[in-house]
Amino acid sequence: MIYLDNAATTRVTEPILEVMLSYLKESYGNPSSLYFLGRKSKRVIETAREQVAKAINAKPEQIFFTSGATESNNWVISNFDYVICSKIEHHSILNNPKCHQSDFSELERKIRKNNADLVTYMLVNNETGQIFDIKSLVEISHKMGIMFHTDATQAFGHIPIDVKELAVDSLSLSGHKFHAPKGVGILYLKDPSKYKPLFYGGQQEKNLRAGTENVAGIAAIGKAVELYNFSKEKDGICRTIQGKFYSAFKDMTDVWFNTNISNSIPTTLNLAFKNAESESLMLLLDSNGICVSSGSACNSRSLESSHVLKVMGTPEEYIYNSIRLSWDESITNEQINYVIKSIKNNVKKIRGYV
Ligand code: PMP
Repeated sequence: MIYLDNAATTRVTEPILEVMLSYLKESYGNPSSLYFLGRKSKRVIETAREQVAKAINAKPEQIFFTSGATESNNWVISNFDYVICSKIEHHSILNNPKCHQSDFSELERKIRKNNADLVTYMLVNNETGQIFDIKSLVEISHKMGIMFHTDATQAFGHIPIDVKELAVDSLSLSGHKFHAPKGVGILYLKDPSKYKPLFYGGQQEKNLRAGTENVAGIAAIGKAVELYNFSKEKDGICRTIQGKFYSAFKDMTDVWFNTNISNSIPTTLNLAFKNAESESLMLLLDSNGICVSSGSACNSRSLESSHVLKVMGTPEEYIYNSIRLSWDESITNEQINYVIKSIKNNVKKIRGYV
């Protein structure tokens, strides 16, 4: 198997699994219990909080553990009345009835007109890997006295994240995008005292996120932010891989790149072949043992065309033909060459020409 869908989810690696197993099998105490087994669980949560804080230049008391970025995004938005977001957000933001879409250029006018109280723009798009420079938007929002949230789910590990430098009021992450398991996420809140909880219940997470903590998942995400944060070395390796894929396809006829590689994370390439529907290509690649996405994983079961590609100006004849390759540094040259050959062969099989 060649796994080229790391933007959908990643493998839980051995060191992470090892950490998790110890908190599932041996140190399984409830962190609210006062005896030693409970205290040990409590301690591991606080260690993970420190690890996460360090990784994004926050303070531990600004870090909250959730079930994933969907919950983190919803929690933040639940605290506001009228939210302005980009047109290319993930559905965990777009589908929220409080969220109203806006272009960069209309932001100021829309905030004023609607008396908005939160702006949310993602840091990296999940379908194309495009990086957004949100700094000027944060500045505009703050100048107008309103708060700014960013969904950094697709950014962690691929670009450095520094919450002080970004100057955002809140930021979401999801563990399974960087080798922790599914079902654990992070919400950074610059000033936690300004927020109400999403769930009411026990006193966990300083009364802001009730429910017995996912200790093994939290221990895993703590270890994962240490092991899989951005590094220049990883960046270099992945950029070279991106360059190889790009060069291999750029001279084909009727090809369109949805990823602008000069402004994207180094682990993604989204591209389309005219007259070769992505669903068919994805299934043929699947039969060759290659996992790619034909649309983002969250959309690929719907027949609706991608809202992101439409907004980003992908021509009509390429919209239904887009596939996303997303790798990590472990892919070998041999595997890259096999994937390139397989894509070319299967595109030819579908449309009759390369
Ligand atoms: N935001 C973005 C940009 C994502 O890519 C995803 C996951 N595809 C999410 C939010 C939601 O993450 P989760 O499903 O882990 O809650």
